[in-house]
Amino acid sequence: MAYSYELKLTRDAFNLQSSTVGEFTDAENADFRCRIVLSDEMVLNLGMRELACEASDNPAETPHSIYVTQMTLLRLQKGTPEDLFPLYHELGHIHHGHSGRYSSQAELESARAAAVRRGAALDTELEADSFAAAILGRDAAVTALRAMWLVRLDYNRRINNAGTPNGILENREYRNRIKAAEAL
Ligand SMILES: [Zn+2]
Repeated sequence: MAYSYELKLTRDAFNLQSSTVGEFTDAENADFRCRIVLSDEMVLNLGMRELACEASDNPAETPHSIYVTQMTLLRLQKGTPEDLFPLYHELGHIHHGHSGRYSSQAELESARAAAVRRGAALDTELEADSFAAAILGRDAAVTALRAMWLVRLDYNRRINNAGTPNGILENREYRNRIKAAEAL
């Protein structure tokens, strides 16, 4: 499938928190607007560590937002397909209208655990991965997911989470996402 999204990202390394540092536009849909905002606080508030997206009901009026941390922005500015993968993964969630797919965090967590047990991952995560892979290439997706997996393993080890049910689930979930990307 061909997508017509275009990314603009500042090359400036120094930006104020809460400032807009880039945007996605869609050459085939003038109403589509998605801004990229530097906000370590919003990423944390949305329960993530590197970046997170917030879909808008009416993007022509209020654009969709993808929040990135300072660290993530510096990585995105390197601009390799592997570096950009997490950003396009978030765009994939917006593109597919995933927000609200699960009515509660509890419902999401139980669907997630069930999916991982049967060797897969949440449908929303797999869809976002294959969206990003379609734009950036399958190899970039596999390389990026492997790198994200190692970062997560290291993080879980450091916070003594590696052997907990959630740590084990996350480990298997990444392996399943990598397998799915390899099969694209
Ligand atoms: Zn995701």
